[in-house]
Amino acid sequence: MKKTSYLSKTVEELKPSGIRRFFDLAAGMEGVISLGVGEPDFVTSWSVREAAILSLEQGYTSYTANAGLMELREEISAYMGQSFGVPYSPKNEIIVTVGASQALDIALRAIVDPGDEVIVIEPSFVSYAPLVVLAGGKAVTVNTKKENDFKVSKEELEQVITSRTKAIILCSPNNPTGTMLGREDLIGIAEVAKKYDLLILSDEIYAELSYDEQFVSLAAIEGMRERTILISGFSKGFAMTGWRLGFVCAPEELTQAMLKIHQYAMMCAPTMAQFAAVEALKNGRGDVEDMRKSYRRRRNYFVHSLNELGLECHVPGGAFYVFPSIKSTGLTSTQFAERLLLEEKVAVVPGDVFGESGEGHIRCSYASSMEQLQESIKRIKSFIERP
Ligand code: PMP
Repeated sequence: MKKTSYLSKTVEELKPSGIRRFFDLAAGMEGVISLGVGEPDFVTSWSVREAAILSLEQGYTSYTANAGLMELREEISAYMGQSFGVPYSPKNEIIVTVGASQALDIALRAIVDPGDEVIVIEPSFVSYAPLVVLAGGKAVTVNTKKENDFKVSKEELEQVITSRTKAIILCSPNNPTGTMLGREDLIGIAEVAKKYDLLILSDEIYAELSYDEQFVSLAAIEGMRERTILISGFSKGFAMTGWRLGFVCAPEELTQAMLKIHQYAMMCAPTMAQFAAVEALKNGRGDVEDMRKSYRRRRNYFVHSLNELGLECHVPGGAFYVFPSIKSTGLTSTQFAERLLLEEKVAVVPGDVFGESGEGHIRCSYASSMEQLQESIKRIKSFIERP
């Protein structure tokens, strides 16, 4: 007898990401300016690409250690220590992963038992809640507001904590809001984690892209290293999205648990990309600095221009997203994004795909050329001024 469906209930109930739908719509049109994608507009530095080519020429085409090339782990260890003041042991506290995406996945699978709750602060990166569900857990959301620069308060967190809460996922600088949490903000969240004995998955993939203040890692806050799973990678700061390379740092017990999943599900991250990442950390920091300066200039232009048009936004301290309010237009975020695409050929992402509290906003990525940003501002202006 034929089964009605071969699919697991969990997967059947999972909704596809709302961002995809917009890409598909835009892909069928010509002359579209895309402010939709969450990736750098830079090509990976030449020396980094060359290191990968050299590794191929030298015949390094086999697996690496499960946790990644020791040379790369040593570089990551030095980098985390020097840049963020959070040294991790290359021997047993770092795993090189297939993007920060896989790091998030193994972190959640290592800690979640069926029914455990993980707090997701919204608006949030689209993968967090689905990854919690795929790990067998329950994603419990906390909403943040523009009035508070999309920062969560201790009280808001405490309201949703139950005896089943295991962890909080934190993302600073944030996708989609660009908000960066300062030391004081992190201390507040750390107090909650300590009081209720929670872990924090700290997604620091945008750590290199902070523009006004020095980035502070959650693991650098007193008493937090032991309860932090720090997730980062090369995609954003080093403009290496297609290489699929990230890493996760955590105390030994947690790292070894994640490594068990990683060795069975993935074996290791791509070897060629690992050689490229060694070069990125050894010699690529100057290029990161240049990219940061360029993003900062574009952020300043874009935030200023949107505010001038009456699409109010807070100044995002990091990442490459602006999250303006579109409430003054009277449209929902989906109506706004759809009509802007069809009428003016500018692709943005409606805020509601990042959770309920994203409604009334759109996410624009300013990782686009200055000319394209200027043209998109002209188009947005004519869109909102149309009767
Ligand atoms: N975390 C956040 C907040 C992101 O925005 C992204 C990419 N959009 C990721 C993780 C995944 O990055 P990676 O390419 O390293 O898998």
